[in-house]
Amino acid sequence: MTLKKTAKTLTISLLFALVAIPVAGQDLLARQAPVDRRAKKLDSIEIRSVVARENMQSPAALLYGDDWNNQYAHRATELPDSFVINLRHFCMPTPSRVVTSNFGSRWGRQHKGLDIKVYIGDTIRSAFNGKVRIVKYERRGYGNYVVIRHPNGLETIYGHLSKHLVKENQVVRAGEPIGLGGNTGRSTGSHLHFETRLCGVALNPALFFDFRNQDVVADQVLFSKDSYQKESTIATRERGKVGNGGYTRDQIYGTPGHSADLASTAVRNTINQPERVYYKVLKGDTLESIASKVGVTVDKLCRLNGYRRNQAIRPGQIIRYI
Ligand SMILES: [Zn+2]
Repeated sequence: MTLKKTAKTLTISLLFALVAIPVAGQDLLARQAPVDRRAKKLDSIEIRSVVARENMQSPAALLYGDDWNNQYAHRATELPDSFVINLRHFCMPTPSRVVTSNFGSRWGRQHKGLDIKVYIGDTIRSAFNGKVRIVKYERRGYGNYVVIRHPNGLETIYGHLSKHLVKENQVVRAGEPIGLGGNTGRSTGSHLHFETRLCGVALNPALFFDFRNQDVVADQVLFSKDSYQKESTIATRERGKVGNGGYTRDQIYGTPGHSADLASTAVRNTINQPERVYYKVLKGDTLESIASKVGVTVDKLCRLNGYRRNQAIRPGQIIRYI
């Protein structure tokens, strides 16, 4: 891992720096303490920036393993039983407040996202920092679309665009324009088809985004397999109200604060839980090898996941380690 390597290199170069100071033993000892303190500070700042860089280069790498490809828009894999999704530093993909179609069953088919009214040429923005995984055209489906993977574990999909503004493998910031609104693919009337996926599985975007109020629903959302269905229904009811047919630009973009009365404070729910971090099991992994890869003990892995020490694990499985 680059991070480990960088951390090691840093420690080594700092050691050299210390050794290279031409001072007598006593002096060295006397000076060492402040140097150590400085070194620590430097270490943590440097490591933090390395982590941030790595997060951008391979977002949510531990959740997705080495599954970075520019081919599949999505392939459903195993979901963690529970997973905290950090929604801080978001940007609404569009200022439009009108949801024209909800997530869920529609005319006997599953609609895997939210449809938001936009006009052709409207700027569509990345919802979070991330890295563009797919930029493609699909005549019978998404039309021109973009898939972005984010460090918080989510992948977002933006469909029916009239134009792409990004390239595959490009690192983007939250709010960066990624395309223009359109009516391409299987679409009647210009709109943005917006999906949020975790491990390839489509989750109701209304669990995270409240388009009518142009806000996220909380700083972080605890996704839990058990309560997903129930939460999803509530989210559709509270945040996914479908707008009426004859839109005016005012209805669509509203005025800031205008629809604040629609917000249901009851559903705003910030879960202040310690951060959880997950690892996706690769072929050949054992609890021991995972423990050493992620830098925790086997005991800790067992405790966090309710495993026995001789627990059988299989590739694709999600294991919590923090
Ligand atoms: Zn749609």
